[in-house]
Amino acid sequence: MASKNPIMGRSQAAASQMVSFVRGVNPNFNPEIASDFLRVGDRYGVRGDIAFCQSIHETNWFRFGGDVKPNQNNFGGIGATGGGNPGHSFATIEEGVTAQIQHLYAYATRDPLPAGEPLVSPRFHLVQRGSAPNWEDLAGKWAVPGYDPRKYSSLQAAMAAGESYGQLIIRIYQRMIQTTPAPTPAPSKDRTFRSFSIDQFQEYLQNLPTPTRPINHIQIHHTWKPRITDYTGEQTIYNMWKYHTQTNGWADIAQHFTVSPDGLIWDGRPLDQIPAGIQGHNTGGIMIEIIGNFDQGEERLEGSQLEATVHLVRLLLTRFNLQLRDIVFHREHSGKTCPGSGLSKEWFLEQVQQVEDGYPPQTPLWKKEAMDWMYEQGLLTHPMWKEKLEEPLPLWAYAIVLQRFREKIN
Ligand SMILES: [Zn+2]
Repeated sequence: MASKNPIMGRSQAAASQMVSFVRGVNPNFNPEIASDFLRVGDRYGVRGDIAFCQSIHETNWFRFGGDVKPNQNNFGGIGATGGGNPGHSFATIEEGVTAQIQHLYAYATRDPLPAGEPLVSPRFHLVQRGSAPNWEDLAGKWAVPGYDPRKYSSLQAAMAAGESYGQLIIRIYQRMIQTTPAPTPAPSKDRTFRSFSIDQFQEYLQNLPTPTRPINHIQIHHTWKPRITDYTGEQTIYNMWKYHTQTNGWADIAQHFTVSPDGLIWDGRPLDQIPAGIQGHNTGGIMIEIIGNFDQGEERLEGSQLEATVHLVRLLLTRFNLQLRDIVFHREHSGKTCPGSGLSKEWFLEQVQQVEDGYPPQTPLWKKEAMDWMYEQGLLTHPMWKEKLEEPLPLWAYAIVLQRFREKIN
């Protein structure tokens, strides 16, 4: 009997190998998925390259076609128990990959999640922790029954033939590394960057130690170049880092945070260090770069990128006790148009203000005024009603409002 292959460990395949292996079968494969498996796998110490092969098995080479649909970003069949049940959905590719890696981590170890990693796997707590340290142990656990019952009478029989769930995954992996040439080694990546959704960033910021220098303003910049259309994920942030350190000779990437067109917030220079943002005006600053060229007639700050930018600014204002007047556009201290002649500061502050007051974006003023009156009068107290201002009040809440109202007029 061949030795088993552990789930925990460092990936050995390269992203380019993984992509060309899958593209041999599915030319439309999105390469972002492969790099996410490696990156997220590394954060958990899980073999992201083999997890990727598990997904090849689960999704029929990322062509799907079973109960799970491509837009669910569910690459591991999580919660898809057969009979048309589509299973879980995840907001982004990275979230779906993270859920799968977390689920594998739950099977492979009894350790808590790595520090700073928010739980996204909806089934993490259903797993008997540490019950499957090897890929071969997943048959009958991740996948039930874990073999093809039309071909084999039992799991033992499938195991003996090398065709149980985990064994098939390992076989795909071996084919991948044997048939796809390894790339010539690239120069080692000496700097990596983490990306966050708005919710993840909120948690990250809460746990971040207070910087050793005073913070008194937030700088807003656009990258101008790279443009929105140049963005290719972490590589783009890395290229900026490379340019800033190697060409400009700076100690690190200039900015503390970068907002990418897909609505992710990337980390950068540590907050303890002043940014390289506005010549002569960097002390006390937190520097935000928004990827894009927002000069008139070029690109637009909108959608998830706008939402992430506005939430990032709002979260930083709250964390560092700053006001709207502490937001600085680069051009206020320079002849440049940065963050773009197409962005009016008044409009930008309005967007931040709208998030800050707790109402959903685009809420008309007259609705806010009506709601604000309810709060001023003490008839509503919990901030959640602001987020649900289009929904009817439940009866019990209605009863409380009436009681409070009666107390007021008596
Ligand atoms: Zn700038």
